[in-house]
Amino acid sequence: MNMRLFKKDLKSRGLSVRSLLAFFDEVKRGEYVRKDNCATQQVQVSPSLNAFIYKSELDFISRCILDYKNIETGGQLFGYWTADGSPVVLYAIGPGANANHQVAFFNQDVDYLLNVGNVLVHHYGLQHIGEWHSHHKLGLAQPSGHDASTMADTIKEKRLPQFLLCIGNCSDVESTLNPFNFTLNAGYNYVKAQWTVKDIDSPYRNLIDTELKDMLIQPKTVKPSYKAVGINKSLSEIELSNKGYWFEDKQNRLVLKSIIDFIESYPNQAHCSIKMDSQNHIQLLVKRQDKDEYIYFPSKFPQVAPEIQLNVHGNPVPTNYEWDCKGDIFDAFVNCYKSIYNYDGR
Ligand SMILES: [Zn+2]
Repeated sequence: MNMRLFKKDLKSRGLSVRSLLAFFDEVKRGEYVRKDNCATQQVQVSPSLNAFIYKSELDFISRCILDYKNIETGGQLFGYWTADGSPVVLYAIGPGANANHQVAFFNQDVDYLLNVGNVLVHHYGLQHIGEWHSHHKLGLAQPSGHDASTMADTIKEKRLPQFLLCIGNCSDVESTLNPFNFTLNAGYNYVKAQWTVKDIDSPYRNLIDTELKDMLIQPKTVKPSYKAVGINKSLSEIELSNKGYWFEDKQNRLVLKSIIDFIESYPNQAHCSIKMDSQNHIQLLVKRQDKDEYIYFPSKFPQVAPEIQLNVHGNPVPTNYEWDCKGDIFDAFVNCYKSIYNYDGR
């Protein structure tokens, strides 16, 4: 673990190493009382677009997924909710010894979940915020209809304000993990969220792994391997190195999310991933059936146009588009993008 980053991360949450150690002492002595119970009960109307996770937990889940490449597996997620209803994953568990792994469903070992979950909640003060399971090589990178209805029914029955469901997939060599936020009010209308990865170990990972080593089941796969698709860098890193860039504005992050949703549905289904170049400028890589696109947002965006390159069967084709951004960035992008697809009848 990088100690400097860890301290910085703690500081950004109003904590210090000393306060964290004091907290662990309180927990060990059984004197810790959660102080934020009421904050977690607030009513969240629409699901958050964000989900936070520590790198150690992505690593752990990747190893679990790669243990079962041809069959479903899963586990539970523990952490807390931010004030605006975004999940923060601090500790993940995998399948218990008696879990039921099938090609098209997974049921956790209930005793394992109860035993471990009780300690995580009552001893370490974490909340059970969600679940994850893997659709292995089935190609379904989102909740199935059954997943969505089970989730909506469960949060309604248990009156949970919100819940996180993560769906994993894998190939023979690597895994992916996508977060979906559910709220009581939104029911079946879940939202695909964007990961922001804290690029350090969760402060709970080593501690809990050590203290509960007789109870926990660890994955057999030693090395995690996952595709960083749909994963933001740590937002604080972007802010530090990227002053003045459009994406620095919180509102514009939502605009980017809308732009991606639009691209993924127009003019037909596509897969869009975000990358950052060395200057932390945003690049989008869009894959369609016969085409792919490369979209770059330069430092002066939105005063200047995004750079859009279109390849058909791998060969670049000329594009002709107009950029006119006097007001809304999303509207301007949609007009610009549509002009490419309407050009020359393409
Ligand atoms: Zn499923």
